[in-house]
Amino acid sequence: MNYEGHGNREIRERVIPESEVTEKIRKLKQIPVSGRCARECINIAYGFFTPLEGFMGKEEVDAVCERMTLADGTLWPIPIVLDVKEEEIRTKKIKKGDSILLTYTASSLAMMEVEDIFRLNKTKIAEAVLGTTDERHPGVRMLRGLENTFLGGKIALVNPPEFQPPFDRFWYTPRQLRKRIVENGWERVVAHQTRNVPHSGHEWLMKGAWFSANGELPVEKLKTGILVNCIIGPKRTGDYIDEAIVLCHQRLCEARYFRDDIHMVTIALWDMRYAGPREAIFHAILRTNLGCTHHMFGRDHAGVGSYYGSYDAHRIFDQIPQHKLKIKPVRVLEWWYCPICGEVTYSGLCGHSQERQKFSGTLIRSMIEDKVKPTKLIFRPEIYDKLMESAEKYGFGSPFCTEKYLAERKPVFKLPALW
Ligand SMILES: [Zn+2]
Repeated sequence: MNYEGHGNREIRERVIPESEVTEKIRKLKQIPVSGRCARECINIAYGFFTPLEGFMGKEEVDAVCERMTLADGTLWPIPIVLDVKEEEIRTKKIKKGDSILLTYTASSLAMMEVEDIFRLNKTKIAEAVLGTTDERHPGVRMLRGLENTFLGGKIALVNPPEFQPPFDRFWYTPRQLRKRIVENGWERVVAHQTRNVPHSGHEWLMKGAWFSANGELPVEKLKTGILVNCIIGPKRTGDYIDEAIVLCHQRLCEARYFRDDIHMVTIALWDMRYAGPREAIFHAILRTNLGCTHHMFGRDHAGVGSYYGSYDAHRIFDQIPQHKLKIKPVRVLEWWYCPICGEVTYSGLCGHSQERQKFSGTLIRSMIEDKVKPTKLIFRPEIYDKLMESAEKYGFGSPFCTEKYLAERKPVFKLPALW
């Protein structure tokens, strides 16, 4: 089994077995962490963020901002930091060299060796990573919302998360996923990053990227897979509910729009920074660790508003030396419906630029809100039905996040009470 991840480093799990969670660990000073930090802690522990072994120290964050690398020169575009209330550090007398216990939702989560305690210049990070300090950018707001003190150091999980239905069947750690990829007989895997319920534009994006990734391989026995990796993180009202996103992607395969031997849906925990090009590189690193060989990037990948050019996330890969990143970007333009061609077609192929009809997420959304079933050329009927079923089952009647959903939804994962 090949467990080599990003930066040619082996993907290792940093999880302390329950039998080794001793009285000593239980009596450590405890620091409660935010949802984002808990999700990132889980990612570090299972190797999603290989080669990171913990939260970054000051030197590491500076290297990421200034050179887009870790301190050792490994390509890395986004700081991964643990922010803590200054008061916690002071009242609990936390100092370098301490071991502490991170807790989340009143349960223990991970042990941490404190190697660095520092402050950060948030403006400098925003400029370097997001390319803006505009407070309207959600990534800037997220940065501004962080506490002012940061802890750096290695972590190890003491309490593995229990994923709740329907997410449990889509949760694979990088090591588990790599085993599945080998079992599937896939030599190449092209990743699709999503936070959406798929319309035909997304479906064809995946199909086109599959052709591109499969390339010159013989076609008698297919050896290229599509990994739909759904991002699970904080939600805002109006977003599709998480349950619908995973179940609708799975439905595309169940309804045979994709062969079940070339398609797989999984989840990853991640709080989007909307950092455009830098985030595209981060997604590429994440999927390298998941065992993917290719990653599709469409228009406006990981962007927001008009902070980045539509294809900035394509172009940044031209600046990365090949040996720095193992995964290959598959750069895709737009798919649209063309009434002259009479089919869903591609902006790099169809010349009917006057007649083409772009897939509009906003239009599809307003049709769904009005309970109008969109035409099957833009939205598969099976997906619509699954979306409505998910709305009833998980969304309090709505396929989009409402205040009620955000307040009362079942958690994606739980941390069991350990002691
Ligand atoms: Zn056409």
